[in-house]
Amino acid sequence: MTAAPDCLFCKIVAGDIPAEVVHTTERTVAFRDINPQAPLHVLVVPRDHEPNAAASAGADATMFAEIATTARAVATGEGYDDYRLVFNTGAGVGQTVFHTHCHVLAGRPMTWPPG
Ligand code: AMP
Ligand code: ZN
Repeated sequence: MTAAPDCLFCKIVAGDIPAEVVHTTERTVAFRDINPQAPLHVLVVPRDHEPNAAASAGADATMFAEIATTARAVATGEGYDDYRLVFNTGAGVGQTVFHTHCHVLAGRPMTWPPG
C-alpha cells in the first residue's frame, strides 16, 4: 500500500480520521461525503494514493473497473439503479482533495450539462 503524508483520504483509508464507511474491497474504500450534494453521495477511493483518476489508471489499469464495480454495488445496495459518477480531475474543474475519488451521486433529478 502506498500512502501520502498529510493526505486526508489516505488518513480515512487508514482509519486515522473517522468517516462513515459504507463499503470496502481489498483495494477500495467507499464512504459518505461530508457535504452531500444528493440523497446518496458516496466517495469511492482506491486505498493506494494517486493524485487523480488518470494517475490511478496509469498505475493499474484495472483500478477503474474496480471503482466502477464498487460504485454500482454502493448505489444498488441503497436502492438506486440510476446514479452519476464524477471524477473531478484538476483544481480548475473543482478537485479539492488530490487523492483519486469517484463521486457516486443519486436520488434527485440531475441536469446536463453539469455545472
Ligand atoms: P473534489 O472537490 O472532487 O476534490 O471532492 C472532494 C470531496 O471530499 C468533497 O465533496 C468534500 O465534501 C469531500 N470531503 C472533504 N473532507 C471530507 C471528509 N473528512 N469526509 C468525507 N468527505 C470529505
Ligand atoms: Zn492519499
